[in-house]
Amino acid sequence: MNFSGFQKSDLLNFPGKVASTVFTYGCNFRCPYCHNYGFVVGGQQESYPEVLILNYLEKRKDMLEAVAISGGEPTLYDKELPPFMRKVKEMGLLVKMDTNGSRPEVLKAMLDEKLLDYVAMDIKTSLDKYSMFGYSEVENIEKSIEILKNSGIDFEFRTTCPKSIVSEDDLVEINKLVGSSKWYLQMFNPRYTLDEAFHEESSYSEEELQELIKKHSLNVTGIR
Ligand code: SF4
Repeated sequence: MNFSGFQKSDLLNFPGKVASTVFTYGCNFRCPYCHNYGFVVGGQQESYPEVLILNYLEKRKDMLEAVAISGGEPTLYDKELPPFMRKVKEMGLLVKMDTNGSRPEVLKAMLDEKLLDYVAMDIKTSLDKYSMFGYSEVENIEKSIEILKNSGIDFEFRTTCPKSIVSEDDLVEINKLVGSSKWYLQMFNPRYTLDEAFHEESSYSEEELQELIKKHSLNVTGIR
């Protein structure tokens, strides 16, 4: 397969690991605040053949610990990604994947084959508001949450917090969905957004989020 982005190494995309990151093209959501929109709309700008990336990983595998797969939405590549992941695992590297949780059957198949060591899944807001992202099959989101909770691997849920999308009530609803699992709140950055109208969108300050966490005893692992 061809990836649309490649970062040779960083410490940001896989918690605590030196990882290379690949980005898949395309997404079945349209989040107005998406900051990776170059991988979502407008055609694939760049193309990194899988073989090029595997060659790089093979040469650097002693200096790397992991590969992170981001996007776009990686689970759209249910046929192409598993062979890539197998080759990465054969090199002794860990695999992390970011997902919006819309394809539980793909997530489950990858977990069953032990192709994943870490998953970061977005829970964008209350389930009854998912149509804001151009997506309505919220039962899939619930299934993915349960699959991760029962996976036995390390994972996290995360929520980006523009005020017009994630209200105080939404945070309480998401808290019920995540239970005792790791859950990070992400500060919304209005500088780079798919929908230009969101450049004017307001974000919670860290202090406001801290107050809401305290007020509702939210099980938040951290704010990023
Ligand atoms: S934020 Fe994630 S799920 Fe939303 S459009 Fe962007 S890549 Fe897709």
